[in-house]
Amino acid sequence: MFENPFHLFDTFLFDGDGVLYKENSPLPGAIELLSQLEKSGKKILLLTNNSTKVRTDYVQKLSDMGIAIKKEDILTSSYLTAKHISEKKPNSRIYVIGEEGLKKELQNLNLEVVNPKIETNNEEIFDFDFEGIDYVVTGMDRKLNYVKMARAMNLLRKKDKTVEFIATNADISFPTNNGLIPGGGAMITVLEELSGRKVSKIIGKPQEKMYLTALEISNTPKEKAIMFGDRLHTDIYGANQIGITSCLVLSGVTSQEDLEEPSDDLSPDIIINDLLDVLKPIT
Ligand SMILES: [Mg+2]
Repeated sequence: MFENPFHLFDTFLFDGDGVLYKENSPLPGAIELLSQLEKSGKKILLLTNNSTKVRTDYVQKLSDMGIAIKKEDILTSSYLTAKHISEKKPNSRIYVIGEEGLKKELQNLNLEVVNPKIETNNEEIFDFDFEGIDYVVTGMDRKLNYVKMARAMNLLRKKDKTVEFIATNADISFPTNNGLIPGGGAMITVLEELSGRKVSKIIGKPQEKMYLTALEISNTPKEKAIMFGDRLHTDIYGANQIGITSCLVLSGVTSQEDLEEPSDDLSPDIIINDLLDVLKPIT
């Protein structure tokens, strides 16, 4: 009799891009697997470092691909950053290097985004109130400009160090169909250099917050959860650190050649080509 080892798990944690989908198209096996897991009563959560969308955007994106997932089961680095700040310092005032999705998640939890509506390179950098701001928060920002960087830099260089520096994620690049573009991590690197300060907290994978929140909301012990990811240094490393079974899916950024000599921390417990492999009985 064949036994598929994936049946041992109660909760299935999925990275998005490179695992469930590539840009707006589902990857092989994603629709079939999620539907099968749903029917079997398994819990499914999406864990994404992408900070540019709100959770309801993901509900819609996945629904357009034929995948049903509830907002509560979607953890993004923006949402968790907003949650972290609202628990630590409610009603904070925040300067954002990031896109609308990040700003909206912060505002959804009653945090104040202090960026002016218009913040182009035509504005005067110092025509801005630098006082009373609690955080600089960074995420991927495809409209990043000189004025924004100069303002964030000056907030972080304030002598009284009252502005805390938090990053949604540290992914240095982001894959698109046409090639790599700078990711949220690039914003951290530049601001650290400009301010002479290190970021004080990073929220996204591989940091533990996203995994621990997923276990908490699904009420799952770590032994009963499995993380599917396509990046060794984020998805897999983070799961390994916590003790969640890690499964590398080769449908994204990591290729077979990248696996030649991975260190223990980066070694996935299971390697599959795509999610169709999870549906197959494995001998
Ligand atoms: Mg990915």
